[in-house]
Amino acid sequence: MSHLVILEGLRKEYDGITAVKSVDLTIGRGEFVVLLGPSGSGKTTLLSMLGGFIEPTAGRILIDGADMAGVSPALRPTATVFQDYALFPHMNVANNVGFGLTMHGIRGPERKRRIEETLALVGLEDFAKRGIHQLSGGQRQRIALARAIAVQPTVLLLDEPLGALDLALRRQMQEELVHIQREVGMTFIHVTHNQEEAMAIADR
Ligand code: ADP
Ligand code: MG
Repeated sequence: MSHLVILEGLRKEYDGITAVKSVDLTIGRGEFVVLLGPSGSGKTTLLSMLGGFIEPTAGRILIDGADMAGVSPALRPTATVFQDYALFPHMNVANNVGFGLTMHGIRGPERKRRIEETLALVGLEDFAKRGIHQLSGGQRQRIALARAIAVQPTVLLLDEPLGALDLALRRQMQEELVHIQREVGMTFIHVTHNQEEAMAIADR
């Protein structure tokens, strides 16, 4: 398998705190990789460096052969599903899902088509006009996932995306995540502190 993502000596230090201590890791195209670790082990910091939101103190990130140093989040072939979803409360569902498309210059019928297609993928095709405050927690989680997938990133970064869901819904979404990943064929890097979840969904 070719190496899509290569992390070399990746490290992040804050004054006196080592948040991520020299990570070396290679990830193949189309893999569903789960990083498992307790709270405070550096999972969010690692994903934030991959997504371009935090500058590493040392080390390199290569994606598809390109060095990501100095590349802004919008220009990376990544998208992130944040732990708290970070949906835009003043935009309806369709505009949340279409936000990244607009940022990438995709407009008009193509934008509309991609929004519909992605909403169908997460089972919320009838929710386009809803406000975010009119959604359940599980539905918000799906919209956050749809928003990230809509831009068709090469690598999808998921920061404990199921952490806020109750157990039954979490189990259901685990299965759906695996199904969606197979369907879209993207590389997923998912972090969690939940061992049962990691074992249920990971290729590795
Ligand atoms: P996780 O996501 O696994 O819970 P984090 O990546 O959020 O872990 O944090 C890893 C470590 O780095 C923790 O000890 C945390 O307190 C510290 N840390 C994270 N962000 C900052 C920051 N902006 N300033 C100082 N320390 C931080
Ligand atoms: Mg975290």
